[in-house]
Amino acid sequence: MIMSTSESEDVTFFDMAVAVCPECGTPIAESGWYGMDMESDVECYDCGNVFNMKKNATDRATLTVVLSKNNKIKRIGVEEKIDIEE
Ligand SMILES: [Zn+2]
Repeated sequence: MIMSTSESEDVTFFDMAVAVCPECGTPIAESGWYGMDMESDVECYDCGNVFNMKKNATDRATLTVVLSKNNKIKRIGVEEKIDIEE
């Protein structure tokens, strides 16, 4: 067994978008690909309203997902903000 003083961390990335339900104002987080590129409809988990993710989007970002040695999610941060069309 190789002993190491600093724990190695693997990193992966997640593209996500945020949209706000036009009925009740609840913010919804979705995959950026699903919500923005596919322009999918999503269901508000507060009021049940179905709305278009892209038309109601407020932000999109690439998240950094830091993994522990056994690939469990350890920490999430914002890697890069992606401009959305107004
Ligand atoms: Zn709602």
